[in-house]
Amino acid sequence: MLALSGMPLVLSQLIEQLSGLPGVGPKTAMRLALNLLSKSKHDVAQLAETLASLHERMGFCSRCGCFAEHDHCMVCDNPRRDAQIICVVEQAVDVLMLERGHSFSGHYHVLHGRLNPMEGIGSKQLNLQGLDQRVSQHSVNEIILATSATVDGEATAHFLAHRYQDNAVKLSRISRGVPEGGELEYLDEYTLTRALEQRVMWE
Ligand SMILES: [Zn+2]
Repeated sequence: MLALSGMPLVLSQLIEQLSGLPGVGPKTAMRLALNLLSKSKHDVAQLAETLASLHERMGFCSRCGCFAEHDHCMVCDNPRRDAQIICVVEQAVDVLMLERGHSFSGHYHVLHGRLNPMEGIGSKQLNLQGLDQRVSQHSVNEIILATSATVDGEATAHFLAHRYQDNAVKLSRISRGVPEGGELEYLDEYTLTRALEQRVMWE
């Protein structure tokens, strides 16, 4: 469908690869491909280099699971951040969204998913070992459950609250500024900041 007759193979390949990206349909993919073609060889080579080195240069923080270029992410490496407060999120991109608000000074922990029995995602599939260690070894004062406001996100928050309730740690949940069914990555920074600041203690 994408390959028009007479279209060079490399162009149709590029369009097909671009259209595999989220939110990019065949028409947008064609526009992007033609736009790349109009750019200088140097600009396109730079883009290709960034793409080619993405997986080598990027990884996840060995401590919190957030995006990191080295062993630790910038939050974990920052001595001015408060390690006594850990905000637990589902995905690494949620950390980036929360950081846009510039109001939270604690640490994060990325689960890399949420409980979803229908899809076979149980507690073993989540990045919990690291969090268990951090709670038991470090002097964590508060865990903020910032999982999404979806059914699975709520179930994950309940699971975590139950898991850590016996540790001498305060548990809180981000407030209802997050709409029902809300994924954190689609919220603006003001809503997210408010949800974090107006978090409610877990009962
Ligand atoms: Zn980290």
